[in-house]
Amino acid sequence: MNFDFDYKERKEILNTVLDKVEHFYANTKDYNTTPELNVQEIRNLVETPNLVSGNNPKNAIEHIINGLENYSVHTPHPNYFGLFNPRANFAGIIADFITASYNPQLAAWSHAPFAVEVEAHVIREFIEKFGFDKNNADGVFTTGGAEANLTAVLCALNNKYPDFAKNGVFGLDKKPIIFCSQEAHHSVQKAAKIVGLGYDFVKTIPTNKDLKIDTQLLENEIINLNTSTHSPLMVIGTAGTTGTGTIDDLESISKICKTHNIWFHVDAAYGGAAVLSSKLKHNLNGISVSDSITFDAHKWMSVPMGTSIFLTSTSEILNKTFRITTEYMPKEASELEIIEPFSHSIQWSRRFIGLKVYLSLLFYGWNGYEKTINHQANIGEYLRRKLIENNWIIKNNTELPVICFTDEQLESDLNFTKTILDNILARGKSWLSVYPIKNIPTFRACITNYNTTKTEIDELIEELNKEREAYQQ
Ligand SMILES: *Cc1c(COP(=O)(O)O)cnc(C)c1O
Repeated sequence: MNFDFDYKERKEILNTVLDKVEHFYANTKDYNTTPELNVQEIRNLVETPNLVSGNNPKNAIEHIINGLENYSVHTPHPNYFGLFNPRANFAGIIADFITASYNPQLAAWSHAPFAVEVEAHVIREFIEKFGFDKNNADGVFTTGGAEANLTAVLCALNNKYPDFAKNGVFGLDKKPIIFCSQEAHHSVQKAAKIVGLGYDFVKTIPTNKDLKIDTQLLENEIINLNTSTHSPLMVIGTAGTTGTGTIDDLESISKICKTHNIWFHVDAAYGGAAVLSSKLKHNLNGISVSDSITFDAHKWMSVPMGTSIFLTSTSEILNKTFRITTEYMPKEASELEIIEPFSHSIQWSRRFIGLKVYLSLLFYGWNGYEKTINHQANIGEYLRRKLIENNWIIKNNTELPVICFTDEQLESDLNFTKTILDNILARGKSWLSVYPIKNIPTFRACITNYNTTKTEIDELIEELNKEREAYQQ
């Protein structure tokens, strides 16, 4: 068995892949957005090929492509108005292919100095974009926002409790509390579970009428904490909530954190990309004085999954949190004044995650990103306008292209949004979701695809209008 195959075979396999993938990439709009969900059928398909003898590679590839094309929600589709799942840009796709081919090991600097320095450079660029002090900030690529938020909780713990690395939660004299809004992402609760605190230690604060964290209630909760048993660990502000794209009042939160000496983390997994647009950037005022930031490049920057960034304005904290010494890891770090990634991150063996962002910048530049992000924001504006013209009402208030809406007459009818959504998903022309705002179900549409234009918006409006009419009859 030749694991490499020979040149001719490789070329044939690559051509098959290229033909198939290119067909999908160029004609994504022709596909149904929504798959049929028949569990048994899907399992049978997965289990059919022979795994003992192996298969003809061409057939194997056709098997995979067939499975993915028939049984996926096509998030790269221009009529996918769903969660923050982008169409992967071409630079990112190529980057993943190159990364897999060279398979650099980013655990140790000396094994992949170019790759590690590329990531460090991209991190420094983001440090500057978000307004941190270049000489005192640090950061690391993570697999996603969940890992970045977990990193934030660990950094806050190690910052507040210098012996946390040694004694863990058993060394704590008081119970640390994490504050965030009710609209914050549930990876916060997950992080609390993973670090050994438990999700009861996450105190969620109600939101105000704009769906932002109620900062008055937040401060009251901090002041009223029983300080003989509990201690505030951190406040997490969200910049672009998953449900409604709302950005918390980061400036007010930062003031509260300063007053009470609490770690301020901003979960900007989605909305952080606003920093790349001079038009939208003001929404993030206050982020530059935070202690740490989560930013998912695999959301609004449209690179393939598995690409997020954690940044902190406290330069030593990543090292304090993750440092470890071993006999078997290379020891160049101290001599060369470089940072060993394995002592800086939850991960050990590490993929070249950052190449997807670096190659995107090499292909499109920051200018290309600013244009794309403004385009998506403008299409969001167009959707808002069209909805209002067609007698829908908008229930959220954000400059980001996340629009939650319903019909004023029908909003109290709990079947309304569900029935229409089911019909739209069954037809497979568009994909959107339903999200409750203050207990009222709304349709949630996000312009998450850089290829979405006014045409797709018009198609969505037409579908919604038709469905509403049919429902009323
Ligand atoms: C998506 C999201 C996360 C989780 O990020 P993953 O990349 O999915 O791990 C965290 N917070 C917010 C606000 C998000 O939108």
